[in-house]
Amino acid sequence: MEFELIDRIRERAASRRDVRLGIGDDAALLAVPAGQLLTVSTDTLNVGVHFHAETDPTALGHKALAVNLSDLAAMGAEPAWCTLALSLPGADPAWLDRFLDGFLGLAAQHRVALVGGDTTRGPLSIGVTVHGFVPAGQALRRDAARVGDDLWLTGSTGDAAAALAGAGQGEIAAALRERLERPTPRVEAGLALRRRAHAAIDVSDGLLADLGHILHDSGVGAEIELDALPVSEALAALSDGTARWEWQLAGGDDYELLFTAAASARASIAAALAATATPAVRIGRIVAGSGCRVLGADGEWTPSRRGYQHFT
Ligand code: ADP
Ligand code: MG
Repeated sequence: MEFELIDRIRERAASRRDVRLGIGDDAALLAVPAGQLLTVSTDTLNVGVHFHAETDPTALGHKALAVNLSDLAAMGAEPAWCTLALSLPGADPAWLDRFLDGFLGLAAQHRVALVGGDTTRGPLSIGVTVHGFVPAGQALRRDAARVGDDLWLTGSTGDAAAALAGAGQGEIAAALRERLERPTPRVEAGLALRRRAHAAIDVSDGLLADLGHILHDSGVGAEIELDALPVSEALAALSDGTARWEWQLAGGDDYELLFTAAASARASIAAALAATATPAVRIGRIVAGSGCRVLGADGEWTPSRRGYQHFT
C-alpha cells in the first residue's frame, strides 16, 4: 500500500534543475548554489493537536507547507526543496490526492520541489522540512534588533485565533476560517527585507510571545501602540474591544512577519514590500530594557495570556 501511495506522490511532484536526484532513491541529491547558506526548517502538524480529523485535506496540505515556508520567509531565505513525512491511519488514495492538491499547489506557487519523505501507518501526522538559500550575512535573525528600530508587521493578526474560538457567523466566520486554514506565507516579503530589516520572526504562537523571542535574543525591549495594530475587515466587523486585542496580540497561527528596521529604512521598506503586494505597517519601536509594553489611549494594556504553549 505504501508503495502505491509513494508512486502517486512521485507522479505528481514537480522537480527543478538543482534537484540531481529526487523521490525514488535512498536519499535526494541537491545542488546548493555557491556563496549561499543552506537554510533548513521543520514543522509538524498532528491530528487532535493542530487540526481536527475532519479538516479538509486540501487545506491541510496547504497549511502543512505554508507554516514551513513562513519560517524560511522569516529568515529572508528563498525556498527550494521540501520533504514530507506522512503518518496515515490507512491507505486512502482519494484523501492523499486532495492533500496533494493543497500541498503541491502551494509548492508550485513558490517553485519548491518535493524531493523525498517517508510514508508510514499511524495516527494522522504531517511532518514537513523545507530547505532554502540565503546569501551569507543576509539572514534575518532574531538576535539582530537594535534600540531605536521601528517594529513592523505584515498583514494583520488575530483572524486565525478568532476562527479557532468559533467567532462570527456567515461571511465573517468564513473569512476568518480562510485565514486559519490557508495562511499566506510571506516568502516574497522576506526576500524583500534582506539588507533592509534587522531582526525578523514569523508570528505563529502569538505576536507578543514571538516578539518576546526577538527581545530576549537581542537584549532589548519594545513598545507597541494599540492604535497602530492592523486589523482585517472581518475582525474589525466582529469586535472593536479587548477580545480583538487578545486575538491580535496573543492569538497565534497568523504566519505574518514581525520585523525590526532602522527608521532610515522606512521608505525603502515601504517601497520594497509594496512591490511584492505585501501590506505592512509600523506598530511600535524597539527600546532599551527588556519586555514589551502595549500602549493604548487609556495607558498600558496587559493581555490575559501571552500566546500558545504546547506543554502548559
Ligand atoms: P527507504 O526505505 O529508503 O526510506 P522509502 O520506501 O521510505 O525508502 O521511500 C522510497 C522513496 O520515496 C524515497 O526516495 C523517499 O524519499 C520517497 N518518499 C517516501 N515517502 C514520501 C513522501 N511522503 N513524500 C515524498 N517522498 C516520499
Ligand atoms: Mg523511508
